[in-house]
Amino acid sequence: MNIVFAASEAVPFAKTGGLADVVGALPREIERLGHRVRLFLPAYRQACSRTPPPRPGGIELEIPIASKIVPGRLLQSRLPHSRVDVWLVDQPEYYDRPQLYGEHGKDYQDNCERFVFFCRAVMESLAAMGEPVDLLHCHDWQTGLIPAYREILYGHHPVFAETATLLTLHNMAYQGRFWHWDMLLTGIDWKYFNWRQMEFHGDLNLLKTGIIFADRLNTVSPSYAEEIQREPLGCGLADVLHYRADVLTGIVNGIDVRQWDPAHDPHLPQAYNVESWQVGKAACKAALQQASGLAVEPRRPLIGLIGRLASQKGWEIVLPLLEAQLENSDYQWVVLGSGDPAIETRLRELARTHPDRLHVTIAFDEPLAHQIEAGADMFIMASRYEPCGLNQLYSLRYGTVPIVHHTGGLIDTIVDVTDETLAARTATGFHFHHYTTDSLAEALARAVECYRHHGSTWSQVVETGMSQDWSWHRSARQYVELYEQTREEHRRRLTAEPSS
Ligand code: ADP
Repeated sequence: MNIVFAASEAVPFAKTGGLADVVGALPREIERLGHRVRLFLPAYRQACSRTPPPRPGGIELEIPIASKIVPGRLLQSRLPHSRVDVWLVDQPEYYDRPQLYGEHGKDYQDNCERFVFFCRAVMESLAAMGEPVDLLHCHDWQTGLIPAYREILYGHHPVFAETATLLTLHNMAYQGRFWHWDMLLTGIDWKYFNWRQMEFHGDLNLLKTGIIFADRLNTVSPSYAEEIQREPLGCGLADVLHYRADVLTGIVNGIDVRQWDPAHDPHLPQAYNVESWQVGKAACKAALQQASGLAVEPRRPLIGLIGRLASQKGWEIVLPLLEAQLENSDYQWVVLGSGDPAIETRLRELARTHPDRLHVTIAFDEPLAHQIEAGADMFIMASRYEPCGLNQLYSLRYGTVPIVHHTGGLIDTIVDVTDETLAARTATGFHFHHYTTDSLAEALARAVECYRHHGSTWSQVVETGMSQDWSWHRSARQYVELYEQTREEHRRRLTAEPSS
């Protein structure tokens, strides 16, 4: 297949979140499965200042934006360790800025225009390149217009004659919602500005546009695909998603198994694998305790937490748990995160009053993240909602038993410890079902009971998790199947409703 990715971020060119990890890894794996893959990104300042810098790509663009013609051009680069061509859409007024989407907590005012330009530039570039596209894989609201362009403005161009469109929804909380006059920027007729297509409570909604016009949709886990068909997790679009339920599925993201491999991790004091985890983790735990100023006690439960300090990640139920546990138990805690200043302050206060039991690092610190994943016995992931989640997957690979809220990708990746799952040898962690501190505390108590008093069960749970394959290779095979289904759906739609 001839596949084109369009996205607003990809590692190593530009990153603000998990989307960049997906788009930085998946194209390479799809290419390894024998497909031709190209990737389009905006030429942000951070993408252009990499070494080697992108070179001119030989395509000049003139994009109609409302009544203006805005010039642009393509720059060319490569996705590292691959033959995937990366085309950077260059328009310095839009993209040569310090950040991707906004500064000082405020979105850039012209974000709609910036991403209208990007979407239209992708279509114009592909048309100019002249190579028929089998599948356009779009990601999040920033590329939500592409499926609409494919259907409304570019359907008759030979390059797009058989192009199917897939939109991946990484997080429903971000929708690209703009005032209705921005419809003029898109070049799409006002007749599409209605509640069944591009309009949402009087505004233009670019994610909804993509959801309506794409041939198929997916999210980054099957459970999140179900959950967003109901409120509140649909973030206002549950009905629209329910309407498209027959083409909405989920594929769990992969992890970079080279970067996250306890057997070859340069950040760890001792390497280990599923055969040697008892010895290896003991050494990593001792080193982590020492570095964190905690007593070096091999059998004391050590619990790790890493993540954005944002309400999505469950700090409102974790902080009261921490307060109670620091008073009433002997567990040790290591926390790494940055974000909301109020959460940072509370964590710092708790660490100051209990320095022998809790160590807090307010930073983005990749090596420390590896050391916590290796040195902790358990890892708490209490997200209020979680489209996929990566830390629980790193925990599995590092033999650190996850304690997770029963939501989204956490349901799909962690199997709760029960008599049945232990007998089936599938158990990998502990779930809590209610988003409350009590429910989380109960799951933690179950985990600690198992850790302290049922050593062979604990070992089984650790080893089951460590033996699993959460690589991108696994996800990429599922995406290729989904691409085939998307093309079938496209052909079916074409015969069902010939385009006007
Ligand atoms: P999200 O993308 O919603 O933030 P994920 O669990 O999917 O959550 O991915 C978060 C990624 O960012 C993980 O790789 C995690 O280890 C990393 N991360 C988050 N906060 C920090 C931090 N303070 N230091 C180091 N790594 C972090």
